[in-house]
Amino acid sequence: MVGKTIKVTVWNEFRHEKTDEAVKKLYPKGIHAAIADHLNAQDGIEAGTAALDEPEHGLPEKVLKATDVVIWWGHMAHHEVSDEVVARVREHVLSGMGLICLHSAHFSKILRTMMGTNCSLKWREVNEKERLWNIEPGHPITEGIDEYFELPHVEMYGERFDIPTPDKVVFISWFQGGEVFRSGCCWERGHGRIFYFRPGHETLPIFEDENVLRVITNAVRWAAPRVRMSTADAPNVKALDPIPKTK
Ligand code: ZN
Repeated sequence: MVGKTIKVTVWNEFRHEKTDEAVKKLYPKGIHAAIADHLNAQDGIEAGTAALDEPEHGLPEKVLKATDVVIWWGHMAHHEVSDEVVARVREHVLSGMGLICLHSAHFSKILRTMMGTNCSLKWREVNEKERLWNIEPGHPITEGIDEYFELPHVEMYGERFDIPTPDKVVFISWFQGGEVFRSGCCWERGHGRIFYFRPGHETLPIFEDENVLRVITNAVRWAAPRVRMSTADAPNVKALDPIPKTK
């Protein structure tokens, strides 16, 4: 709950870092560890990690129960994530756990499940410039972020992004090649808060960027649960007050 230490689990499929020299060099301990290290340096946040190849992908019931916010990174192995684990994470999100999906996690089973759409988009990898416009400067996720910030070399993601209309879009990206993209999107599902944040990519040092890390940290605080209660049951209930019989 808000006020206490926020427990984060940063999940990563953790494959590129083992097989690709360039990625290994950039994120020697994995993207999940880089993000967790940053979060652990912040007040009131405690971050651990989990990965695809761990038993139950590192997300058994016990871990999820003790997690306030899951951060999800995946790219090449979305299909290897078991439906059982996805169903478990979904249930926890509906009960109040926060979910933050980064970059290529747009195609993760968990985001597509939570959205009910394909979450498809356009992409191009020519290391062009991205300008992210902060269109909700009063939102907790954009706290401390200027009117815009730039990332000099990125993989482009372009609209149409196949998502349900977000409750709030906090960033819109412009790309050098001409496309635009809803880069920071907020939804509520059940009691849970979900944030999709576009920047990333395994071969670029995006998770070293000060603004990107600040947004992720802000998003963790925003997505932390206010309540944690199951929405699974639809109980039949007695009336609080007597209701006169009608003929
Ligand atoms: Zn990418």
